[in-house]
Amino acid sequence: MATVAISGCSTGIGGATRARLEAAGDTVLGIDLRDVEVPADLSTVEGRQHAVAEVLKQSGGRLDRLVLCAGLGGHIEDTPSVAAVNYFGVVDLLDGLLPALQKGQDPAAVVICSNSAQLAPDTGASPLVVAMLDGDVEAVARLAENDFSGQQVYMMSKNAVGQAVRRRTLAWGEAGVRLNAVAPGPIVTPLLEGALETPDGAAIRAFKIPIGRMGQPSEVAGTIEYLLGPDTGFVHGAIWYIDGGADAFVRPERF
Ligand code: NAD
Repeated sequence: MATVAISGCSTGIGGATRARLEAAGDTVLGIDLRDVEVPADLSTVEGRQHAVAEVLKQSGGRLDRLVLCAGLGGHIEDTPSVAAVNYFGVVDLLDGLLPALQKGQDPAAVVICSNSAQLAPDTGASPLVVAMLDGDVEAVARLAENDFSGQQVYMMSKNAVGQAVRRRTLAWGEAGVRLNAVAPGPIVTPLLEGALETPDGAAIRAFKIPIGRMGQPSEVAGTIEYLLGPDTGFVHGAIWYIDGGADAFVRPERF
C-alpha cells in the first residue's frame, strides 16, 4: 500500500483525508502542529524545513502520495501566518518532497486551493501574490501585515497556490509526478466554524450555493482520494471546484 504524507491532518479536510486513506490501507505520515508523526509549525521557514527533513527521514526518502491541507482562515488576526502557512506551507513542501515522490509508485500530489481564489478583483496580479510567487518571504510577511485585510490575504494565498500548481505542471510532468488542486467552497470544519463566528460570518452565510448547503470534509476527501488514484492518471495541473456550484454560478463565463 502507499506511503502518504498529509499536512493539516488533525482536523477538517486533512483529518477526513487521513481517515479515508488509512481505511484503504495506506501508511500516513501526518504533518501538523502537534500529536502527529511529524509535528511542525508551517508558518516558519525552520518549521517547513523541519517538516521536509522529518518526512524524508521517516519515509526513507520515498513517498507515493502527498496531500497538503494545512491552512489558516482569513479571520485569523496573524495575517503573516495566514500567508505563510497557506502559501509557503504548500510550495516549500511540494518542492522539498518532489525528489521523494519521484521514487514512489504512481506518485501524485493534491493541494487545497479555494473557490475564493478568484473572488477579489485583480487578486492574481496583486503585489502580495507576486511576492508569494517570487518566494520573497519577508515581503509577503510585510504586505500581509500592513496592506491587506485577512480575507484578502486568504484569497490571495489561495490564488498564488493555484498559480503555483499550474506553473509546476511541466517540471512535475517531466518528473513523472502528477500534481493537482481542489478548490472547495464552504466546508463545515473548525476553520469555517471559526470564520462564521466573526463579522465576516454573515457574508459567508449569504454566499449563494446552488446545491443549497455547505459541504462536508468527507466530500472533499473523496475527491482527493480519487485524484490520487489510478482512475485519474491523465489529470495533471487541474484545479477541481468542490463548491456546490458556487463558482459556476458567480462566474459562468470563466472556466
Ligand atoms: P481545519 O482548521 O479543520 O484544518 C486545518 C489544519 O491545518 C489543522 O489540522 C491545523 O492544525 C493545521 N495547521 C494550521 N496552522 C498550522 C501550522 N502553522 N503548521 C502546521 N499545521 C497547521 O481547516 P479545513 O477547513 O479542513 O482546511 C483545510 C484546507 O482547506 C485549508 O488549506 C483551507 O484553507 C482549505 N479550505 C477550506 C475551506 C472551508 O470552507 N473549510 C474552503 C476552501 C479551502
